[in-house]
Amino acid sequence: MTRTVGLLFLVAAVMLGVAWFADNTGAVTIVWQGWRVGTSTGVLAAVVIGIAILTALVYRFWRGVARAPQAFGRWRRERRRRRGYVALTQGLVAVAAGDPHEARRQARRADVLLNEPPLTMLLSAQSAQLAGDEQAAARYFNDMLARPETEFLGLRGLLIQAMRADDRQRALTLARRARDLRPKTPWVLTTLFDLETQVGDWKSAIGTLQRAARIKAIAPLPAKRREAAALIELSRLAAAEGRDRDALRFAEQAHHADRNHPAAAAGLARLYVSAGKLHAAGKLIESEWARAPHPDLLAVYRLARPVAEPLQWVKQAERLARLAPLHRESLMTLGLASLDAGLWEEARRHLTEAAKAAGGEPSAGLCRMMARLEEDGFSDPAAARSWLTRAAVAPPDPAWVCDACGAVHTDWQVKCARCSAFDRLAWRVPDRARPMLVESTPGRTIESHPPPASLPSS
Ligand SMILES: [Zn+2]
Repeated sequence: MTRTVGLLFLVAAVMLGVAWFADNTGAVTIVWQGWRVGTSTGVLAAVVIGIAILTALVYRFWRGVARAPQAFGRWRRERRRRRGYVALTQGLVAVAAGDPHEARRQARRADVLLNEPPLTMLLSAQSAQLAGDEQAAARYFNDMLARPETEFLGLRGLLIQAMRADDRQRALTLARRARDLRPKTPWVLTTLFDLETQVGDWKSAIGTLQRAARIKAIAPLPAKRREAAALIELSRLAAAEGRDRDALRFAEQAHHADRNHPAAAAGLARLYVSAGKLHAAGKLIESEWARAPHPDLLAVYRLARPVAEPLQWVKQAERLARLAPLHRESLMTLGLASLDAGLWEEARRHLTEAAKAAGGEPSAGLCRMMARLEEDGFSDPAAARSWLTRAAVAPPDPAWVCDACGAVHTDWQVKCARCSAFDRLAWRVPDRARPMLVESTPGRTIESHPPPASLPSS
């Protein structure tokens, strides 16, 4: 539009000029070197304008020729770059598709065409990994460490390699370096926490956990629970080394961090007993029993409220059971106390109620208690035998079961003795798959179940 208007103005100006020269004619004479040229002013003006236009055209042509090599070079570079990016993209697609040969070919092409190592190193490393060449991948990752823009990616690659090779110390060093580089990256903090728990660096693990919780890489409740588990372990280690005050402090922190942790209260109460604070231990267990009765609490309660006679213990057991009167553990506690005190009818009543409270069949432990009742209390060996037979096929009693692998532990541990999973033991009835093997570690027996993959379909 502007061009057309401009052209119109130009044509109008030329026509006006021509008309003007036609109206105002004049003569021009040039004498030079014996030559004499005579013409009108209009023709002279046309000649001058013609020469100016010709000069401009010649200059433009010359400039174009002079700049041609540069423009050609630029075009070639641009084309190379475009082909480099295409190779890079195709290489990434090949990695995603799991085609090591194509990935490597495109990586090499991109490397040659682009000459931008930060862009192509990752592709080269990934294609090497895809081809199973971990050494070459490590070389690329190490090269990446030398450049600030790729250092983090290099660390990530090396960290994954170290974890796959189960080289925990190296993985830990790399994860800490990654944390220093990017302290707010969620996966770095959660990986670091896992590694620190695996090597048993509990204090660092708690620090990492708190940082992860601050940036919301872990939800508040799981963070508190894991913190409690690490503190319980710190307390146990301190107690084992005779640092009783540290042990107590850690146990109190654990109980404060997560009151609901199944091992927190019993551990703290046990340390109160060791420190001679029987009253504090008894109070703690009573308040916990009201929320969640547990045999571990009961075991410490017997130490916290020592009695001389079985009948006195019945009184104590009644006091504890009143705090959660309908719970299976309360009724089992009363049943066993009555059995020990020779109160047979009471024992039968409590045990029958315990079986009802658990819902369904009586557990193996309950069957054995019934057998003892029939034998000792009612001198009925036939009934006792019947209960023992029933015990063999009865559902197992609740125990510490690893939620990761199903292994059964006699007491709570921070890491599963079978699969090393952190804080995965839960107090529950083990799965009814046949308890397969009995492993022994010093001082404890572990029944394990076959892993789900090897279970026969039933
Ligand atoms: Zn396990």
